[in-house]
Amino acid sequence: MENGVVAEHGTMLKPELLAPGGDLEKLESALYFGADAVYVGGARFGLRAMAGNFSLPQLQAARKLVRGLGKKLYLTLNAYLAPEEIPALRDHLEELKPLDLDAYIVSDPGVVALIREVDPDRTLHLSTQANTTNAAAAVFWGRNGIRRINLARELSLEQLKAIRSGCDLELETFVHGAMCMAYSGRCLLSAALTGRSANQGACTHPCRWGYALQEETRPGEFFPVEEDGAGAYLLNSRDLCLVEQLPALAAAGIDGLKIEGRMKSRYYAAVVTDVYRTALDSLPEPGGEYRCDPRWREELETVSHRPYGTGFLFPERGEQIHPATSSYIRSHDFIGVLVAGFGRSPLVQVRNRFFPGETLELVAPGMRRTVFSCAAIRTSDGELLSVAQPNAVVAIDLPAAGKPGDLLRRKKGGAS
Ligand code: SF4
Repeated sequence: MENGVVAEHGTMLKPELLAPGGDLEKLESALYFGADAVYVGGARFGLRAMAGNFSLPQLQAARKLVRGLGKKLYLTLNAYLAPEEIPALRDHLEELKPLDLDAYIVSDPGVVALIREVDPDRTLHLSTQANTTNAAAAVFWGRNGIRRINLARELSLEQLKAIRSGCDLELETFVHGAMCMAYSGRCLLSAALTGRSANQGACTHPCRWGYALQEETRPGEFFPVEEDGAGAYLLNSRDLCLVEQLPALAAAGIDGLKIEGRMKSRYYAAVVTDVYRTALDSLPEPGGEYRCDPRWREELETVSHRPYGTGFLFPERGEQIHPATSSYIRSHDFIGVLVAGFGRSPLVQVRNRFFPGETLELVAPGMRRTVFSCAAIRTSDGELLSVAQPNAVVAIDLPAAGKPGDLLRRKKGGAS
């Protein structure tokens, strides 16, 4: 079902919007901009510690925040573990139990078995890394304690529907973010080149780096690898963007829509969540028409991404590979976040430096955007500044009321 096409079936249930909470700040932004649920990574049980992963006290703080808003918090425990990591996982599960998190996201059947032993009532969601591609596999996992399955990213819309009609588990699918050249992240490239393993949620995306050929007796002399005049693009997966296909996914009975990107910025978490929240809230009643607002795609162009496509949803379109650049693109820079003071003179925590006189834009939930000229920048004591430096907290005047959690951005190339 495409943009503008009438919904086919009876009541169209609104799927849950699941956003990445890479750290506490990103989690706050995802919630503030409309996520129904957030997923986070923990810092223990033998997984390589990754910047932003949540310690137990941070998980506790996140849980309090999420529950206070009536939303859900899922913890990724989706690594495939080596034998020596199992005892540490058992200890970690005991530590986690009192937090009473809404679900764990798992892949390894051994981890499932251990959770069933230590914490038998915990809700389990199966990660995309378990590569569930058919209803028989879904039913198998359901019999083994899984409530929700994040299906393999390589499935078409017709295949999603077939799985839906063959099982009664909750089904979840990715709607936005990076895609893999390997099958749903089961790839060793990042682990081999950087020590950061995709199988532990820490892929550094080396499939997107530039590669050249070097003859071994001529160090430093690189021969370009070219497929055609545009260069080489053997590993250039597009990023997934299914904002135009939300009615199709809802009508197919998908229960959860997941945004990829725990390692992306706070700005990414906020803007992508804002767009999908707005789009989901625009899903029509049965018989109604879904109109994909062009502003949604424009907003998604403001975050760092590779050219978008619909992945495997419509295989006939062949939108997995981008036959040109492997570079990331974005139209805007993240400038800062409002941290205190309601109204027109808030305090801003600066992320990228900016100057008086620059054109900035206030980004607030519900796709509210306000472009303005930043007349003056002051310290919190009222002293005038000639520049706002990263990590400083400064006061500015806004043309409209802002709230803590709103963001500031600048069109790229707009710095003076
Ligand atoms: S390196 Fe590329 S193909 Fe491999 S897991 Fe990472 S994104 Fe996927």
